[in-house]
Amino acid sequence: MKTLQDCKSEIHSCSKCGLCQSVCPIYKITGNDCTVSRGHFIMLKGLIKGELKMSKTINKYLDLCLKCGACSKFCPSGIDVVDIVALAKAEYFKLHKTEKLKSAILNFILGFVKKINLLKNTKQKKFEKKVIYFAGCGGANKSVIKILNSMNIEVITPNFGCCGFPLFVRGDMESFQKYMDSFYKIIGQYEDYDIVVNCATCEKTLKSYSKWGGKEIKIKNVFEYIKENNLSLELKKYQKVTFHKPCNLDNFEDIKQVLENTKNLEYVEMKDFDICCGLEGLTNLKERKIMSELFKSKHKNIVESGAKTVLTSCLACKITLALFSLGKYKVQDFIEFLAKNVK
Ligand code: SF4
Ligand code: SF4
Repeated sequence: MKTLQDCKSEIHSCSKCGLCQSVCPIYKITGNDCTVSRGHFIMLKGLIKGELKMSKTINKYLDLCLKCGACSKFCPSGIDVVDIVALAKAEYFKLHKTEKLKSAILNFILGFVKKINLLKNTKQKKFEKKVIYFAGCGGANKSVIKILNSMNIEVITPNFGCCGFPLFVRGDMESFQKYMDSFYKIIGQYEDYDIVVNCATCEKTLKSYSKWGGKEIKIKNVFEYIKENNLSLELKKYQKVTFHKPCNLDNFEDIKQVLENTKNLEYVEMKDFDICCGLEGLTNLKERKIMSELFKSKHKNIVESGAKTVLTSCLACKITLALFSLGKYKVQDFIEFLAKNVK
């Protein structure tokens, strides 16, 4: 697997233009260059040259990065910040037992969740067209099955477990590799089928496997099937909603089309709908003050949209938004919302 040293030329390609500062949610709060890509790359350059040593301070700044990728989209040098920050975290991970312990606990939790998911009832209709559903940590979601069944698609639900993203962003590349290997082992039994996902983060991670030595695979989102099948949707009764776009969601246009074309559904775009929910901050309790700024502004934007329901399409975003909703609005996965409310 790639290491930080392999990203030398990418890190050197940072022109220090500072454009990343204008979009980084953390820099907007801290105003500190060490908390944004430009500053990260200055530190990482020092590490690669041997002028700096990996330290708790550098790791603190890497941990402050939300891995939202907003800066990469604006970076004129096209640098993939999330990958480089993860590889820098991997350097810290290798040197610190406490990081390994945290990872072992996380692996244990993810393994436990996978076992619980085995108990989910996924009984459904049989159709000629079949797809494989990668359900991730949330386990097979009946709503996804119901929507796909309504398009005459049968859903096969192997218990894959996690995609490995939580380990990847913490720099535990060995565990990430294990999740990747487990995915390919399962998928090897179903070579002729499409793989369908609902969660944006799972989708992005599975698509990234080929960058980390995995075979290229075709992944489709449930919304692509809705679009392809011209599925016409109408809610039983009028509802006004807003949508939080997960950082890892690359096909918002497909989702927006469904939001706008579903009858009886009014979609209002909230301010900064595409700014990170701050999930990474939940694990960074040492920086409570910075993170609570992030949560507060997301909460305010949802409330000000006037919608009583906020939809999203990532399990982690859904959990984060629900934790800070304070009972002011409902947080739902978009597919779950459709399965529950369409005629
Ligand atoms: S936008 Fe890209 S090139 Fe410009 S300072 Fe940020 S990381 Fe460097
Ligand atoms: S990934 Fe997000 S939080 Fe991290 S430096 Fe880029 S914009 Fe800031």
